[in-house]
Amino acid sequence: MLLRLAWRQSLIRLLLFYALALGIGLVLDEPWWALGIATAVLAARAYWRLYRVLRFLDWRKQLRTVDGQGLWAALETLIHRRQTENRTRSRRLVRLLRAYRQAATAMPDGALVIHRRDGRLVWFNKTARHLVGLRYPQSLTEPLADFFPEQPRVREWLASGQTDEPLTDVASPADPMVRISLRLIPYSPTQWLVVVRDVTKLMRLEQVRRDFVANVSHELRTPLTVVHGYLDMIEPEEHPDLAVMVEEMRRQSQRMTQLVEDLLTLSRLEAQEHLPEEPLGMASMLVTLRREAEALSQGRHQIVVEDLAGCDLTGSVKELHSAFSNLVSNAVRYTPTDGRITIRFSRTADAGARLAVIDSGYGIPAQHLPRITERFYRVSTSRSRESGGTGLGLSIVKHVLSLHQGRLEIESEVGRGSTFACVFGPARVRARSAAEA
Ligand code: ADP
Repeated sequence: MLLRLAWRQSLIRLLLFYALALGIGLVLDEPWWALGIATAVLAARAYWRLYRVLRFLDWRKQLRTVDGQGLWAALETLIHRRQTENRTRSRRLVRLLRAYRQAATAMPDGALVIHRRDGRLVWFNKTARHLVGLRYPQSLTEPLADFFPEQPRVREWLASGQTDEPLTDVASPADPMVRISLRLIPYSPTQWLVVVRDVTKLMRLEQVRRDFVANVSHELRTPLTVVHGYLDMIEPEEHPDLAVMVEEMRRQSQRMTQLVEDLLTLSRLEAQEHLPEEPLGMASMLVTLRREAEALSQGRHQIVVEDLAGCDLTGSVKELHSAFSNLVSNAVRYTPTDGRITIRFSRTADAGARLAVIDSGYGIPAQHLPRITERFYRVSTSRSRESGGTGLGLSIVKHVLSLHQGRLEIESEVGRGSTFACVFGPARVRARSAAEA
């Protein structure tokens, strides 16, 4: 609309201008001169307007007024409109950016942006500055891991790029009394967002809980031993009227002792960061596991041992034995008579190793699987109690495996059986010793 009107106006004005020039030329009897001068005036005016437009197209200058009418004025109007729109948009963007920055800065958690490739810092907020001991702007472009020189696990964790599990209980470089947790969030193809949280209180509470459980378990141990001792001294034959009661009391005190022992084992494992690195001969371990399974089963199950890996492991012999035994004992306890239990030691595709305990037992409904390794979690409390379970076995297994950088894989189908597999990385595998082969 604006353009069509401008076209029309310009054309009319041009024609009028030339008509006027021609009129004056005819009066002066010099029409060609008059037309020539008119053309020169028009060209000069066009150059002047072009210069003005070009000057205002320079991004620093804003066109303030639009001069006159016609095509040049229409062009200036359009430029003016675009310029105003662009300025408004960029002002809005700057405001938004500032608001986001302010929000990120005001966050109670520390936030840092680092390059994925080398972990160098790109940006960090105020909380991160306090929690990690950074200085602005000196710390920018420094690798984040360099701020944790005494904690190599931070460097390893950053290098591994683990986004699902945060790294917890890290001492803050600014104040070792402050404990922090770090979480990696992939937010662009080239950068990570690292969220740093002060978990000092949480860690203290966790410590209080751990100490409490360990102390209670420890305190219960002595009275239980005394009760157990006295119960053992009562001969049911001498007191036939008390026989049933004594038998039940013995069973319950045994259960309590087992509970206390399992709780103490868990506390001990939780307090440990590293376990001894010992060679673990798997051939003899498999023989021991078979013997234990047979002793527990009392001939009620078919026990099969398959040694397909031809390698050994490294780790804590005692803890790994306890984890494997737990799985074997579960398989026996949760498999009805005539069932089959297979203990299979094999290699994994990534050159690691896997000890699987496969049973043809009751199986576990799928909805229970995600919680099965929680303390005291049982699919069927009565079945667990009847079979002498404490509900702590799988928690212990999971802990032992995580201390060996391994994991527990569980597959199960109700009525068909379950497979519990301890999976170890290649770093835990060692060639089988001659004595074991
Ligand atoms: P518990 O001492 O009760 O056996 P665990 O931590 O060892 O405790 O196991 C937790 C629960 O997982 C058990 O109560 C049982 O319901 C289930 N479970 C463990 N192993 C098996 C298995 N091989 N087959 C079926 N259910 C199992």
